[in-house]
Amino acid sequence: MALGKAVVSTTVGAEGLEVAPERDLLLGDTAERFPEQLVRALENDALPARLGAAGRARVCARYDWSAAVARLDAFYGELGAPSPPGPLSPAGREERSGRCASTAWDRGSAYLHGRYWSGFLVDGQVLLDCPPQTLVHLFKLGVASSAIELVLLTHAHSDHIGGMDLLLLDMKRTHAERSAPPLVGAPPGMYERLRAIVGTSTRLPERGDAALDWHELHDGDALERGPWRVECVKLEHDAELVALDYRVRAAGGAVLAYTGDTRDCAAVDRLVAGAGLLIAECATDRASGHFEWNDLRRCARGCPQRHACW
Ligand SMILES: [Zn+2]
Repeated sequence: MALGKAVVSTTVGAEGLEVAPERDLLLGDTAERFPEQLVRALENDALPARLGAAGRARVCARYDWSAAVARLDAFYGELGAPSPPGPLSPAGREERSGRCASTAWDRGSAYLHGRYWSGFLVDGQVLLDCPPQTLVHLFKLGVASSAIELVLLTHAHSDHIGGMDLLLLDMKRTHAERSAPPLVGAPPGMYERLRAIVGTSTRLPERGDAALDWHELHDGDALERGPWRVECVKLEHDAELVALDYRVRAAGGAVLAYTGDTRDCAAVDRLVAGAGLLIAECATDRASGHFEWNDLRRCARGCPQRHACW
């Protein structure tokens, strides 16, 4: 459509686009109707040019970067959060809430589109999920794996745990530099799943050996490490997986709420209550089991002291 060409699509193909059939494009949902629409466009001299012009005008008005960024900027303003910056530096971006600082190294989706997967490091010690590029980005941030005290994994989708085997191997390598093994908190079955993914190609530290303190967590569980206190909240994401989200309390009392992936559900209120910083992954529709932007508006009302929402 941006090229000014006439488009024939199915309803599903145009899902999520704010376009009007017959004005911006033609729709055909059956094996008969789709070719009918193609022939109609090809045999009508004026129709392709009219559709192409209308489609391009629609794209420019609604989906051009300047229009999209302006809407996103307004949305952040509505949430009371600072405007998102431009592209992140290799060292990531910092958000602060009280005495709790979180570094993010990108805000990509599971399907990337040239971006990194989302990753978050709190005060250089607490890792929230472990996407595939985690280890290399810790090096870029100047953070040794031996500095990571706590790793909290939300669920077993690979964009959230795909870097875990190499991180554990590096932690094993640097084990002598630390006074206590890293504490990993994860839903039940996660360690076995990691082992199944990695196979025998790498020698993961065993749960319970000197190099790894692995905790299987359930809804309502709490754990502590150093100045950190963590509470677990079970949320809804993928019916085949347990998804745990976390409230991380720093020594000074600041609370960070983190959703790995989740759809809006009743337990979200428990997760975000009183949090000073909410990090939430969003999608553009609820059908994928994620927050949608409008869900964030509702959540933000539960965080009156909020500093940032994602
Ligand atoms: Zn997921």
